[in-house]
Amino acid sequence: MHRITIKWLFTILGIMILGLVLLGTVSYQVITTHYQSYTKFNLINQAVSFTEILKVDFDRKTLQHIAEIEAKPSSTVFVFSPQGDLLTSSQTSYSPLLSIAQNWVRQHPNQKVIESELEGTRLILAKNPIHRGKSLLGTVVVVTDLTWVDNTLQSLQGMLLLAGLGALLVASGLGLLLSRSVVRPILDVIQTIGHLAKGNYEVRMYEEGKDELALLTQQVNQLAESLSYYQSSRREFLSHVAHELRTPITYLKGYASLLQNPQIQHDRAQKLTTIIVDQSNRLDQLVNDLMTLSRLDEGQIKLKKVKVSLRQLLEKITEEMKPRAEQLGVKLDLSISSPLYLSIDIQRFHQIMMNLIDNAFRYSNGKGTITIHAQKKLKEIIVQVKDEGIGMTQKELDRIWERFYRVEKSRSRHTGGSGLGLSIVKHLMKLHKGRIEVKSTPNEGTTFRLYFPNHIR
Ligand code: ADP
Repeated sequence: MHRITIKWLFTILGIMILGLVLLGTVSYQVITTHYQSYTKFNLINQAVSFTEILKVDFDRKTLQHIAEIEAKPSSTVFVFSPQGDLLTSSQTSYSPLLSIAQNWVRQHPNQKVIESELEGTRLILAKNPIHRGKSLLGTVVVVTDLTWVDNTLQSLQGMLLLAGLGALLVASGLGLLLSRSVVRPILDVIQTIGHLAKGNYEVRMYEEGKDELALLTQQVNQLAESLSYYQSSRREFLSHVAHELRTPITYLKGYASLLQNPQIQHDRAQKLTTIIVDQSNRLDQLVNDLMTLSRLDEGQIKLKKVKVSLRQLLEKITEEMKPRAEQLGVKLDLSISSPLYLSIDIQRFHQIMMNLIDNAFRYSNGKGTITIHAQKKLKEIIVQVKDEGIGMTQKELDRIWERFYRVEKSRSRHTGGSGLGLSIVKHLMKLHKGRIEVKSTPNEGTTFRLYFPNHIR
């Protein structure tokens, strides 16, 4: 038997024994008192009814008659004169009982009832004076032994003991069942957690019922689910990272070994060097993005918010991006309705905008206009980046926030993206207590909208 089962069982039995002992003692006391009071009450009544008879006819015949009526083995009647001399008795011969009654009548004339003992038998004596007018004719004493009461109480004791033992037996059985029903799920939980600790995240517990133990089972299953998800996403993430790193490294190795050829022509060497620089930049960008994501995940990036003029900030960013737009043959426009002020982390806002504008450049296919627009709406300030590029389908839109997701891997890799940019943007918007939304139509273009809470009035 498990230790916890034994503990439960002993606790239940302990409580049960305590309860039974208390209940038995109290009920035994109550019954004993009841029986004794009942006997005393009856005895006094009997003495009174004899007195009533003798009050009317206090003669030899009546005295004898009373003695005859009461000639029973368990009770005795005595009638004494006012001086305490015996006038009649239901007992035929002299007995020690007579001297007990006689002494009591002589020494305690006013006492109505007493308890006494004769040769180990408990007795109760009740008396009543016989008055006629003002004169005392005598005293009636009725005695009964308590043997029948004691016998009844003894058999009651036996019954109580038997009932107690029976109750204990039933309680042990029930306690065992109860403790098993509580202990079994706990042991299951211990076993399941043991599996989880060893890295087996596929184990699940059988969920049953709605009580606290069922809740515990549910929580353990949820924990297993989270660990399993965490493990698979970690594996997936690592394989993505390895894959993303492999491509630029392969380029770097290949082109660097070509450069080792001493007979290589100058023009060719120039081209290879440019590719090597590009791939190094890509590698650098990828590592930077991974670092940012990991710091965001661990909550290490804290915003340094300041109040800024959105117009000035967006003008600066647009100016920065203009040469690239010209190089790609794309128009870059900024439209901002009124002076807007925003409380943001400038460096992180710059990072968000760069990611979105960079994507707009990449997926515009060298045509169309990219418009940056800012406006205030109710309690929010909306910054929008709109392009007229290749756009996305709804199915693609649903996945763009996933890490390493690219609509079309070959296309995006060719354009230099890592698939991490939008995940970072979404995270940074969350840090700003804002959100990001996207709308897109294939071959028409894409619009990203950033919503910032507007706390500055
Ligand atoms: P990437 O570095 O590959 O651009 P992102 O996380 O920034 O990674 O974007 C995820 C994917 O979403 C991109 O690979 C691209 O397919 C798609 N995407 C993002 N922005 C645009 C856009 N403006 N137009 C079309 N597709 C886009």
